[in-house]
Amino acid sequence: MSKEINPFELAQKQFDRVADMLDLDEEVRAFLRWPKKEFHVRIPVRMDNGELKIFDGYRVQHNDALGPHKGGLRFYQNETFDTVRALSLWMTWKCAVANVPLGGGKGGVVVDPTALSDREKERLLRGYARLLWKDFGPRTDVPAPDMGSNAQMMCWFMDEYSQLSGQYTPGVVTGKPVGAGGSLGRTQATGFGVVVCIREAMKKLGIDSKGTTAAIQGFGNVAQYTATNYIEKLKGIVKCVSCWDRIDKTSYTFYKADGIDPHFLMSITDQYGMIDKKLASENGYEILSGDAWRSLDVDVLIPAALEGQITLDNVNTISKQVKIIAEAANGPTTTEADEVIKKRNIFLIPDFLCNCGGVTCSYFESVQNDANFYWSEDEVLGKLDDKMSVAFNSVFGMAKERNVYMRDAAYMVAIQRVVTAMKLRGWV
Ligand code: GLU
Repeated sequence: MSKEINPFELAQKQFDRVADMLDLDEEVRAFLRWPKKEFHVRIPVRMDNGELKIFDGYRVQHNDALGPHKGGLRFYQNETFDTVRALSLWMTWKCAVANVPLGGGKGGVVVDPTALSDREKERLLRGYARLLWKDFGPRTDVPAPDMGSNAQMMCWFMDEYSQLSGQYTPGVVTGKPVGAGGSLGRTQATGFGVVVCIREAMKKLGIDSKGTTAAIQGFGNVAQYTATNYIEKLKGIVKCVSCWDRIDKTSYTFYKADGIDPHFLMSITDQYGMIDKKLASENGYEILSGDAWRSLDVDVLIPAALEGQITLDNVNTISKQVKIIAEAANGPTTTEADEVIKKRNIFLIPDFLCNCGGVTCSYFESVQNDANFYWSEDEVLGKLDDKMSVAFNSVFGMAKERNVYMRDAAYMVAIQRVVTAMKLRGWV
């Protein structure tokens, strides 16, 4: 996100706007505009070269009216407290819109994880868990993988927590590897859910998905499984993905007019989503600028990378052909760009609806951990499809009923559910 955009201000602005529309009580607003609890820790890690480095880590617990705080743990060099705060608010709305009994939280560590060895990463995860373990727990706060983290890292967290608490506690974290308390389907869940939302949107707009084209920004976990599912389930064509190159410190768009092959690109991608440019170009990919994805002539635009990617400065470069913007990333669009999208009548699938497949599957993982009984992948994905379709249709129904923008409708559905639980519990 560029320097002048503060994601927490964006999250609060979006909330205030809908709070006005819902005529929400001042006291309830004051409660929900800020997180309930925040932690800042400094994690000492002995590096492989013997040096001791101190890393800043955050955990923000926004709201737990509907259930334990829930949300990812990011490892990102430009992490800020405000970004984590914003993401914790969005998690509350995400869980509420998905209608899973979970609240909102988020964590982050200021670090470039690509610069750490596996052993250093393990020490960092265990260090973070040691400092905060009393504030995590299956009924308190449950982290999950996010930007820069993966299933193995969640497993170290789970192991450290289990050692400290003296009991095997798989439910303290989700997104664990299959075979260590993880759920089948969790890896592809977010991308799968994005595609369910696009399918449902196309049904409403009367678009036959077969042969439709999409451009994706990003090539991390969410983008990868959005691309495969878009091609396999919707029979669509993905024209490009774009990603950051750590070595050049710049981003590129990998384009193929007749459609990319995400499986091939995944085979030449490292675990952080960086595509090998030489191998891509040898295999017929055009390498365009990092911004090129946004202005391609496609039917669906899918920002699946970072916050603040569609702004007032670039929103007008979006092609007239675009009918749907599916926000697979968290917070990719600024409030000013939203106004332009609305005027241009592009159908928007807002972030916390579009990408709620991940946390919905996390909820299924917790249910399996509690029951100590594991489901087949078909069962997981079938249940996920049902939940996502219901979530999409409840937001779409609200947008029609109140004649509002899809983002506002998603906020209305979510805020109403959270406020109802807060009232029932006697908090407000
Ligand atoms: N990190 C994902 C998100 O932002 C998943 C969170 C979770 O499963 O708890 O939605």
